[in-house]
Amino acid sequence: MNASIRYHSTRSAAPTVPISQAIAAGLAPDGGLYVPERLPRLDPATFDPHGTLADTAATLLAPFFAGDALADDLPAICAEAFTFDAPLRALPAHPGTFLLELFHGPTSAFKDFGARFLAACLRRLPRSDARPLTILVATSGDTGAAVAAAFHRQPNVRVVILYPDGLVSPRQAHQLGCFGDNVTALRVAGRFDDCQRMVKAALNDAELQAQMPLSSANSISLGRLLPQMSYYAHAALGWWREHGTPLDFIVPTGNLGNALACLWAREIGSPIGEVQLACNANATLPEFFAGEDYRPREAVATIANAMDVGAPSNFERLRWTFPDEAALRRLLLAQSVDDDTIRQTIRQHARGQGEVICPHTATAMHRLDRLRGSGDQRPWAVVATAHPAKFESIVEPLIEHPVEVPAALANMLARRSHAEPVAASDTALRARLLAAFEA
Ligand SMILES: *Cc1c(COP(=O)(O)O)cnc(C)c1O
Repeated sequence: MNASIRYHSTRSAAPTVPISQAIAAGLAPDGGLYVPERLPRLDPATFDPHGTLADTAATLLAPFFAGDALADDLPAICAEAFTFDAPLRALPAHPGTFLLELFHGPTSAFKDFGARFLAACLRRLPRSDARPLTILVATSGDTGAAVAAAFHRQPNVRVVILYPDGLVSPRQAHQLGCFGDNVTALRVAGRFDDCQRMVKAALNDAELQAQMPLSSANSISLGRLLPQMSYYAHAALGWWREHGTPLDFIVPTGNLGNALACLWAREIGSPIGEVQLACNANATLPEFFAGEDYRPREAVATIANAMDVGAPSNFERLRWTFPDEAALRRLLLAQSVDDDTIRQTIRQHARGQGEVICPHTATAMHRLDRLRGSGDQRPWAVVATAHPAKFESIVEPLIEHPVEVPAALANMLARRSHAEPVAASDTALRARLLAAFEA
C-alpha cells in the first residue's frame, strides 16, 4: 500500500527519480517541473486529532517520502520546519469568515514554511560534490528572505537572491539585503519574470553547473511545494472534526505554488471544499479560467508585488494534475483585482473591524466581499499570505495609523542591508556568479 512514489518531469513520464533527488535538483533536467507519478490518498482518520501542525505535516507527507533516503527523518524535518503555527482565526465581525494566518514565521510571509522545509531536507542529503552548493532564488519579494533566513550561516551552502529592483517594498528590500555571510542579494534591473528566467537559464547551463553546483529554491522546487499542503490539511481537518463539513479557501495567487498546494491537499483527501484564486492585475490565470487560451506574458507591477507574475510557473504542474482542460476550468474560479480595489478593501476592513490585512490578502478578501455581496453565507477561509507590516508604505497611508511590527521583522530592519545591481540578462547573472564563486 505504501509503495514508494517516484517523481518525473511535467514534460515526460520517464525517467523517474526518488523524491530526495527531485528536491536536490529543483528543476527537472528537461526544463520541466517535478511531479509525483501519482498522488496518494490519505483518509482523514489517519491524522492524530490532537497533533500539531508539524505532526499533520509528517503524516501527510509520509507517503510522498516512503522508501526515500529522507523517510526516517521526515518527522524531524517537519518539527524543524514547522516551529510556528498557521492559525485559522475567526473574524469577530463576520460570522463564518476566517483568516488562515500564514505569516507567523521568521520573515512574516507564508514562504517560510516551504523554505524551512526545503532547507531541513537539503541539510540531510548527502552530496557527492564537496564544493559548496549555490542556491539561486528569484523572488518577487518574500521568497528570497524566507530562503535566506532558512539557509543563513549553514555550512557549504550559498544563497544568491535575485529580485526586481524597485518593485519590492522598502521593508522587503531591507530584509533581502540584511543577511550577509553566505547570502548575496542581487537587485535586477527588470521584473520578477526576468529574475525567474535568469535562474532557469543558469540551472539549465551545463557548463556553469560544471563549474559550480547550482540548485534553485523557487516554488518550482517540490521541497517547497509539498510542505505547503500541510497548513491547508491541518486547518481543514480541524474544521471537519468540529463541524463535519469541508472548509473552503480563497488563495491569493501569483506563481500558483500556494494554491496548487491547496488543490493537491484536496486531491489526496483533505476535507477541503471549494478553492478560489484571487490574483492582482496580472490576469493570466483569471483569463484562462474564464475560458480564454492560456497566454503567459510579462508581469505588470502592482501593490501586491509578490503576486506580480505573468507566466505562473506552476501552471505546468496544474495542467499535469488536471489534464482535461475543460474539467480544469470547471474546477477553479479566479478573479483579478486591481490596485484601487485592493486599496479600498484594505481601507474598508481596517475601518469596519480594525482588521489590518496586507495587499495580497486583500485580493482574496475582496473576492469574499463579492461572494458575500451576492448572498453567499458559507464559511470561507481567506488565506493571509503576509503580515501587513511588510507593506507598511502601502498599508499605513490607507489606514492612517502605524502597523505593529512583529519582533522578527523588527530585528531584521535593525540590521544593515546591501544589494548589488545586475542587468536583467542571463549572461549578466552567469558572469556575476563566475566572478564571485568560480573555484
Ligand atoms: C508569494 C506570495 C504570494 C503568491 O504565492 P504563489 O505561491 O506564488 O502563488 C501571495 N502573497 C504573498 C505575500 C506572497 O509572498
